[in-house]
Amino acid sequence: MNFPGKATTAQDPDALLALYADCTLCPRRCHADRREGKRGYCGESASLRCARAGLHMWEEPVLSGTGGSGTVFFSGCSLRCIYCQNRTIALGEKGYETSAERLSEVFLELQAKGAHNINLVTGAHFLPHICIALRRARAEGLHIPVLYNSSGYEEVESLRLLEGLADLYLPDLKYFSPELSARYSHAPDYFEVAFAAITEMVRQVGEPIFSGDGMMQRGVIVRHMVLPGETRDSKKILRRLHEAFGDRIYISIMSQYTPIGAFPSDPLLERRVTPEEYARVVRFAEQIGITCGFVQEGEVAEESFIPAFDGTGILPAREDAPDPTHKPAPEGTDQ
Ligand code: SF4
Repeated sequence: MNFPGKATTAQDPDALLALYADCTLCPRRCHADRREGKRGYCGESASLRCARAGLHMWEEPVLSGTGGSGTVFFSGCSLRCIYCQNRTIALGEKGYETSAERLSEVFLELQAKGAHNINLVTGAHFLPHICIALRRARAEGLHIPVLYNSSGYEEVESLRLLEGLADLYLPDLKYFSPELSARYSHAPDYFEVAFAAITEMVRQVGEPIFSGDGMMQRGVIVRHMVLPGETRDSKKILRRLHEAFGDRIYISIMSQYTPIGAFPSDPLLERRVTPEEYARVVRFAEQIGITCGFVQEGEVAEESFIPAFDGTGILPAREDAPDPTHKPAPEGTDQ
């Protein structure tokens, strides 16, 4: 990505919005002119669209605490895994147009409701608006940590726009194998791209810092969701993370994979991860010395993770609220 002076770009709203004109914000590097209404792989033009904002209780306990994480769900996604549970927003089917100004108000409203942090879910393709809104909200009293919650498929130069704005990073590291990431997320370069992104995140925010009441204030938690039949891939990921970062990051090993339907070409995706598979991965993490981590215990109430993407918290409730239905662009094409 060619930023004419990144430090300047990151602080200048016009320069930030200009990045939509020849978009290389994420590793898809579509070069779509989103300001002209074109859409790249993420399915979004330069109009900021969000699906929901509210207090979310289902993140790791050091993020959700008792008050909840102040979560904002953005419409569209630049990764679009074939098994995605949030596919109605990932495919851009649900979303309300809003503005950077309104987004900064949403952040302040979440803080006023008692959120422990601002949790930005899959916002890579809206980073210009996010940076503008965060700076505005900070100037108007936003003081809780800002958490950037990501698929891990991020452009390092785009992440640099968040330097000084993000306190916490919550990236996924989904796959080690290029074959697996190509099959499930159309991204054969996923591991190398996501690993470089996580390295940049650790560089920016450093080692974990907690408040007196145990809430994470700064640092990186890498999430890895074990996939059915893929424990060997999981082990490779955990080993690489531990070798590279040791106790400088937390690792959250997740068991919540939930099938969303039939996958004739990938029948493994039609079942859950077995308790034995999950236990094998957790045992491996313990054997290689991972101590800073989170595991999921017992039955995971997967439906709790998916709120209604009905515009709550984004637009004021009113009877003539716009229809959130939006026809997504065909994958990887302009519209
Ligand atoms: S997928 Fe979206 S954010 Fe990524 S480069 Fe293409 S248009 Fe930009």
